[in-house]
Amino acid sequence: MSVRHFIFAYPSGSMSKKICIGILGGGQLAKMSTLAASRLGFDISIMDKEMRSPAGQLTHHETIGWVDDHLTLHSFASHCDVVTLENEFVDHHRIESIEQLGKKVFPSSGTIALIQDKLLQKQTLKKKKIPVPAFLEVHDDDTYSAITKKLGGPFVLKSRKMGYDGYGNAMVDSEQSLREAVRHLSNRHDNLMAESFVHFTMELAVMVVRTTQETKTYPVVQTIQKNHICHTVIAPAQIPAAVAKRAVKIAVDAVKAVNGFGIFGVEMFLTEKGTIIVNEMAPRPHNSGHYTIEGCVTSQFENHIRAVMELPLGSTAMVRPYAVMINLLGKPFPQKRMEVYRAALKHPEMHLHIYGKEGSRTGRKMGHITITGDNLKKILKEATALEAEISL
Ligand code: ADP
Repeated sequence: MSVRHFIFAYPSGSMSKKICIGILGGGQLAKMSTLAASRLGFDISIMDKEMRSPAGQLTHHETIGWVDDHLTLHSFASHCDVVTLENEFVDHHRIESIEQLGKKVFPSSGTIALIQDKLLQKQTLKKKKIPVPAFLEVHDDDTYSAITKKLGGPFVLKSRKMGYDGYGNAMVDSEQSLREAVRHLSNRHDNLMAESFVHFTMELAVMVVRTTQETKTYPVVQTIQKNHICHTVIAPAQIPAAVAKRAVKIAVDAVKAVNGFGIFGVEMFLTEKGTIIVNEMAPRPHNSGHYTIEGCVTSQFENHIRAVMELPLGSTAMVRPYAVMINLLGKPFPQKRMEVYRAALKHPEMHLHIYGKEGSRTGRKMGHITITGDNLKKILKEATALEAEISL
């Protein structure tokens, strides 16, 4: 690959005074991590394919290029004290090559290897007796009836790697839809898996942050997806305490199963019978944890930074009884930015986050709003009404 890269980094001598945390990827998760790290006085170095990424805009230490360029990756990593990532798509061998420089990476190459392939992830969780949907590996010539014999129908076909916001998933309910889905998903990645469709009553998520010294969990939240993309998060989920307790235990067990350190998001399905089934886990800050910025004593981003620096973790307790977060996804006709500010900020308790992405496209995560309060019904209604008014 021909790489055009610019390293806007200070010479290593002048950087040694401050501790530098490197983040692979410069999107919104890296941006919110950067803000938390910067408040604590750490330097942040961002590596991204594009200049002026949301996080890259916040630092002078911007490396343009990607991990398949060995020299650029090593030059980036060598001026960082520790490295972390904002998505699980970086090939684990690249992470290993950073570790071979003597740098710690959170999550480690071993953890990433177990997570980035959804099939391997499910096999790892199943081995540790963590409940997951029935699943199997799919080959191009597998037929609908052969798969449904094992999983029942309909089922969900998934790319084993590189899937996000539902882009690597397809519902399959016939031989024809299987063929179409195989063709469509194989464009993303060759290897596929299938899992039985879970008839859930609610989707839940738990953020877990772990160091060698301690493990903390955030409240169980409800996530509501639209078109497979997270849309609304309600904290805490309105479920019985016993179910929440089980969800938290399963989430911690899942993180331990992949030997995870740092922050993790564990997504789960809750069924009518009260059974909890893990959908997937993310080895990084997670959309379901954005509410923690204003909703908890210590945000998921700050606790991740603390974890990668192997520092004591902060309290994960909520500061108000409830929080609602709604994503601002790109809409077909974006408003002028000042109109967005006027609409969003007229509510004195609404927190607006705009990620600073260069271009909007329908469905792209452009920002989010969060509101906290004592009355869940009221804040959910207010946040929902406001989101409908905003077009980014
Ligand atoms: P991504 O990795 O792209 O976020 P996920 O595998 O998490 O994709 O799936 C996105 C959404 O699709 C889930 O939140 C859920 O709503 C739905 N989904 C995924 N797998 C299943 C399943 N086995 N049964 C029912 N719904 C599913």
